Amino acid sequence: MGNDCIFCKINNREIKSPIPYSNNTSFAIKDIAPKAPIHFLIIPKIHLTNLTAFGDQNFDSMKDMFKLASEIVKQENISHTGYRLVINQGNDAGQQVPHLHLHLLAGIQLGEMG
Ligand code: AMP
Ligand code: ZN
Repeated sequence: MGNDCIFCKINNREIKSPIPYSNNTSFAIKDIAPKAPIHFLIIPKIHLTNLTAFGDQNFDSMKDMFKLASEIVKQENISHTGYRLVINQGNDAGQQVPHLHLHLLAGIQLGEMG
């Protein structure tokens, strides 16, 4: 686990936060400052700072993140209206939390990116 990593602390229950969705290697929480009516963060349980830290040995984790995203899409009933999946990587993308995570945004017409 990353020292003082907020997402590791949520995963190991050091910080009590609802975890509405999870599977073997990943879990999802609601974003604390949502940018859309539906805004989940899908997070690998293993501490990896970003995509650069990902190796072949972590691809199961990556697969599980997308499986969990697709499970959330079903449960939240947003497959017909659409959604956006985003990974912010590094400074130029404004990554705030240095533990890889996938944003799932939905429930409103999302603006153009860039
Ligand atoms: P990023 O800019 O991609 O690193 O996104 C980090 C996201 O984590 C932001 O959208 C924050 O609002 C969100 N966040 C930070 N701390 C928490 C927390 N304790 N629980 C839920 N979301 C959080
Ligand atoms: Zn972490």
